[in-house]
Amino acid sequence: MIKVAKFGGSSVANAEQFRKVKAIVEADKSRKFIVTSACGKESHEDHKVTDLLYLCREHIRYGVSYEDMLGAVESKYRRIKEELGLKLDLESEFAEIRSHLDRNVSTDYLVSRGEYLTARCLAEYLDADFADAQDFIAFNFDGSFDFERIEELFSAYLNTDKKLVIPGFYGFLPNGKLKIMSRGGSDISGAVIANITNADVYENWTDVSGFMVTDPRIVKDPLPIAYLNYNELREMSYMGANVLHDDAIFPVRMKSIPINIRNTNDPENPGTMIMNDCSEYDKVNPPHAITGITGRRDYSVLTVIKSHSSAEVGFLKKILTVLEEYKISIESAPITVDTFSVLVQTKDFEGVVYDVIERIKKDVRPDEIYVEDNISLIAVVGRAMRAVPGMAGSFLAELGRNKINIKIINQGSDELSIMVGVDNKDFEKAIQCIYNKFIIEEENMKKGS
Ligand code: ASP
Repeated sequence: MIKVAKFGGSSVANAEQFRKVKAIVEADKSRKFIVTSACGKESHEDHKVTDLLYLCREHIRYGVSYEDMLGAVESKYRRIKEELGLKLDLESEFAEIRSHLDRNVSTDYLVSRGEYLTARCLAEYLDADFADAQDFIAFNFDGSFDFERIEELFSAYLNTDKKLVIPGFYGFLPNGKLKIMSRGGSDISGAVIANITNADVYENWTDVSGFMVTDPRIVKDPLPIAYLNYNELREMSYMGANVLHDDAIFPVRMKSIPINIRNTNDPENPGTMIMNDCSEYDKVNPPHAITGITGRRDYSVLTVIKSHSSAEVGFLKKILTVLEEYKISIESAPITVDTFSVLVQTKDFEGVVYDVIERIKKDVRPDEIYVEDNISLIAVVGRAMRAVPGMAGSFLAELGRNKINIKIINQGSDELSIMVGVDNKDFEKAIQCIYNKFIIEEENMKKGS
């Protein structure tokens, strides 16, 4: 059994968190490959090391002293070293970093030092080997991973019984230059390591015990989600459930490796298991029709009305071309006989909405064109929904019963999710009433039976 355990920033925020990580790693021999983020915030007022390093880079760019920022990073690692009794030569490490700090310092190099230093400290503390991601996480020039190369380079680290600690978030390009990933990218590094080591499980240790049915800021103490499949995860993350980096799923899905989201501060909690196929588990524990309820606020709908437009060849294309020129990405595009609407994020429209309207007026000469703002999208996601006849009907009826006006409806043909657009002011109420009806009521029925 091989497990890759990735620890997020809050799991390595200070010496106390390092101790928890050690206990977790030592509790299970199969946790052989450990991937770490940079130290995160210790408290609400604290700063993530990565944020401080980005700030440091900006100060260098504008020729302003960066010492406060770099000093804060250095003292954080110094404290961890002292409290854990490490030998790591931090003075030379920081002298090396300082020697690169001129106006042309690579942002990627500087920002990656958070993961690098955290992994160095953790490797020593766990009595593990350290493997620098810059030596084996190979990118192609287009930013995709060169899995063959990674596997080949990584094999050099495998002839040891020791555990291996790897910094997340960065790798190198074919020309050897260090490259970082997008924010939160250590999740992706962990997934890549799980892929190349053919791990049995990819554990992602964070500060929550996995996914919950919905946002706890909206619904008090929502139920946890024990099992999810990859497609449900995609739908939920797209609509705003942010536990894991969106791109972390691809390297593990390629090999059907389950992802287990766990909580470093509550290691006994089994968290959420995300798998290709949950059917074995579902046989024992039939899931709710709805696995998760997610949503996002602040969308706009642009509606174009023109009689006989359905018969006009190229009508839709002309509208989409205008949106493409203004680099506006479309979330959904409901269409009826004479009406074409596009749903976009309001922030993408800001500053250009009047230009877009004028261009569309000129290009397609509509009878009417208007924009409506303040729309929230809510999606219910569930692998079991397909098997429940009338699900869409009862979902919409429940919103109606609660006097929530539905402006948009969209159900994918895979029947994995149903999305509705409601007024921003109804966002929280809609989520709460869906939760009450489809989760609480079902739970109560189960208990009663
Ligand atoms: N340290 C990086 C960030 O804060 C990457 C990560 O934590 O995954 O975005």
